[in-house]
Amino acid sequence: MLEIRNVTVRYPSMKDNALNSINLTFHEGDFICVLGKSGAGKSTLIRCLNGLQKPASGEIVWDGLPLSTLHEEQLQKVRREMGMIFQHFNLVPRLTVFQNVLTGMFGYRSSFKNLIGWFTSEEKSLAKQVIQEVGLTDFMDRRVEHLSGGQKQRVGIARALLQQPRVLLGDEPVASLDPGTSDRIFSLLKEMHHRHKLQTIINVHDVQLAKRYATRIIALKEGEVIFDGKPEQFTDD
Ligand code: ADP
Ligand code: ADP
Repeated sequence: MLEIRNVTVRYPSMKDNALNSINLTFHEGDFICVLGKSGAGKSTLIRCLNGLQKPASGEIVWDGLPLSTLHEEQLQKVRREMGMIFQHFNLVPRLTVFQNVLTGMFGYRSSFKNLIGWFTSEEKSLAKQVIQEVGLTDFMDRRVEHLSGGQKQRVGIARALLQQPRVLLGDEPVASLDPGTSDRIFSLLKEMHHRHKLQTIINVHDVQLAKRYATRIIALKEGEVIFDGKPEQFTDD
């Protein structure tokens, strides 16, 4: 279980807090969409959850363990349990789909050596399996730079799944995609959410998408939670 207790984040140059005493508990099985205008604190929240951003005060608690008490090695292990997908995909354009998916393993590998030969056959077959799950088997050996936006995000999703995470975090993963593609990506995310029993927490600015797919909506405004509840109860203002 993942919890945010009294978390406040302030960036050095800011007058106000990016997150202001936030308290949230995330439950197994939730498919959460985090809504809010640009600057509301959505990315900061996601970065706190995976331990990339340290709160000025408060705690992120994972399975009862406050992240602030963990050593770097333990933190690495926690991050491995949290798959991440990004707005700009964060892929390596000149590498193939297969190679990009395998780089998900670097989260807990210390250095980058012979890219493919270096992975176990078990890791490689897992990579093929997740590539198939996101519908990209026919594109396995294609360089990512030649793919469409939707296909690139599918690679991002496969790479996150390769870690066999328990939580999937998304920082505006469909913000650079058109509405139809965004909907198909969300549909895939929902399918993976169920199949892999993930806890899913995704930032999105499209209210309709959130209402269509989320089981719980959290809305942020100026670093505070202004709504936390069922999608059907959410009104857009
Ligand atoms: P959102 O994802 O909802 O757009 P962010 O979490 O990115 O919101 O930002 C919340 C607030 O923190 C904004 O006012 C933003 O300008 C500020 N902020 C975010 N990252 C930084 C940073 N690295 N340095 C300074 N201010 C930042
Ligand atoms: P885009 O609109 O950017 O192409 P999509 O998310 O609609 O992105 O789909 C990307 C690609 O993924 C498709 O062109 C197709 O090759 C593949 N794809 C999508 N869904 C499936 C599926 N269910 N089974 C197999 N391949 C699929």
